[in-house]
Amino acid sequence: MVYSLLFIGIGFIGMEISGAVIHKYLMHGVFWNIHKTHHMRQTGIFEKNDLFSLFFGGIAILLIVVGMDGYDFRFWTGWGMSLYGISYFLLHDLLIHRRMKLFKGPQSGYLAAMIRAHRAHHAHNQKHNAVSFGLFIVPFRFLKAKKRR
Ligand SMILES: [Zn+2]
Ligand SMILES: [Zn+2]
Repeated sequence: MVYSLLFIGIGFIGMEISGAVIHKYLMHGVFWNIHKTHHMRQTGIFEKNDLFSLFFGGIAILLIVVGMDGYDFRFWTGWGMSLYGISYFLLHDLLIHRRMKLFKGPQSGYLAAMIRAHRAHHAHNQKHNAVSFGLFIVPFRFLKAKKRR
């Protein structure tokens, strides 16, 4: 039980950290031509950028399959990654970008800060000088809620 939770956590947190690094140095680097389809917000259901989700999802499925006999660490890490992928889809694609209009945006708290941070990432939609590359890792300045009257 502890063992499985440990590796689910490693898969989940590993995706956030490696995802932020890959986003900053590769997606806003050599893979900009693919990733920019997310920043340009063309119409249509799919973006070329969705290839990254397929790529990470493929690795997660592969880990689950190869770790299936004996439910070893690869199996649980794959599930942690999958859980991250599902959370990312719900928060980033549905809540923040509203690819399907299901949720109303929260007005305060951590989720609102997450949305502000990701909006700042999209603020100028350029390859260079973007901020806030993670999703759950919200830079401190976005956590301070704006005072409302
Ligand atoms: Zn980006
Ligand atoms: Zn986005």
